[in-house]
Amino acid sequence: MAPKTVKDLKTVTTNARPMVEAALEAGGGCLRLAPNWVPRSFLHPGKRLKLHPDDLYAYGLNRGGIDERWFGSTTEAANEGRVPDEGLSYVVFEKRRVLLRDAVAELGADIVGKAIWKKYKRWPVYSKFFDNMGPIPHHMHQSQKQAQKVKQDGKPESYYFPPQHNNVGNNFPYTFFGLCPGTTKAQVRKCLADWNKGDNGILDLAPAYRLKVGTGWFVPPCVLHAPGSLCTYEPQWGSDVFGMYQSLVEGREVPWSLLVKDVPPAKHKDLDYLVDQLDWEQNTDPDFKANHYLEPIPVADTAKAGYLDEWICYGRIEGWQCVTAKKLTVQPGAKITVPDKGAYCLINVEGEGRINALRLECPKLIGFHDLTQDEVFVTETAAKAGVVYENTSASEPLVILRYFGPEVNPDAPDVGDANK
Ligand SMILES: [Zn+2]
Repeated sequence: MAPKTVKDLKTVTTNARPMVEAALEAGGGCLRLAPNWVPRSFLHPGKRLKLHPDDLYAYGLNRGGIDERWFGSTTEAANEGRVPDEGLSYVVFEKRRVLLRDAVAELGADIVGKAIWKKYKRWPVYSKFFDNMGPIPHHMHQSQKQAQKVKQDGKPESYYFPPQHNNVGNNFPYTFFGLCPGTTKAQVRKCLADWNKGDNGILDLAPAYRLKVGTGWFVPPCVLHAPGSLCTYEPQWGSDVFGMYQSLVEGREVPWSLLVKDVPPAKHKDLDYLVDQLDWEQNTDPDFKANHYLEPIPVADTAKAGYLDEWICYGRIEGWQCVTAKKLTVQPGAKITVPDKGAYCLINVEGEGRINALRLECPKLIGFHDLTQDEVFVTETAAKAGVVYENTSASEPLVILRYFGPEVNPDAPDVGDANK
């Protein structure tokens, strides 16, 4: 009998190569991954991840509720009190599992592709579903330069709000981005000085935007954002750095430690340093929406062939492309070949079918330890050769979200191109 849960699997911790090679051979260059759940102690789960309601606190109530599922991750979750493999995805094959991180360490370019392996020696990006009942604090992610001071990587991220996970918008489907044009550094400094007085008022300085299902945003480092309560597909750089600038959210305290988590210890009380972490020009940009809002853009007109591929996450930071993502919709009965330029990780958000030699099936309800058939990592070689997708349903589309590593899609659009 095929294993049903991770408890049925033996974990391979040394010499991953034979198992991964056998998995690649059997899967036609595709590796099946197990669901990878991450809790956050300071947040309130939104209950739209298809995780069984009994398992929302499977890590323990003290660890907080599970409000994230990470895809194709070789990045550890930076949670206090974490379990050793928290945030790390596992490759599953027959009755064994191995960390994707270990598989990449051993097979390198054969999995992530030559250019990425040469430059980063790892799979440097990941994506997640981010699912909360309410908004989260106005925060930023450090730039590479800032994060390096604490031996971390900076983090750009982008968002897409999948309809399949957003039947309800929960408590506050609006996101504050940046700061109102004209805001002064002294005003933000005062918010930090007022931290312990209660609500430090930083949202009084920020504009909010209504979140629209089926669209997204591009968020470079050093840009403040207080994500609203839509369930979000979030491709990003493989790093978990952040600084929270808001002291109170929905009546819950945000400790100062979450503002300075990734700041050098000598700067923990340096309010000017903390204000200067923000990219002032981008935060106060009067055209913020035009420069950060994303709408899906079709890759090509392929409706007649029974499918549509669309860019959902795109954008560049000073010309550099960190991560991109596409949404593939395959109509019932269609079987198509989709070539890509680099390795990717996919999540099946609707329908069923096949990808090369592997079965795809979007689950309805997932237990904390359950295995699924909805997440696959595709090697660069397989992606370039063209992956065969088949929708085996008579009535439902097969919908796949997939994200790519840095600089693999020079043909991807720029922010704003949807309006051209
Ligand atoms: Zn963020």
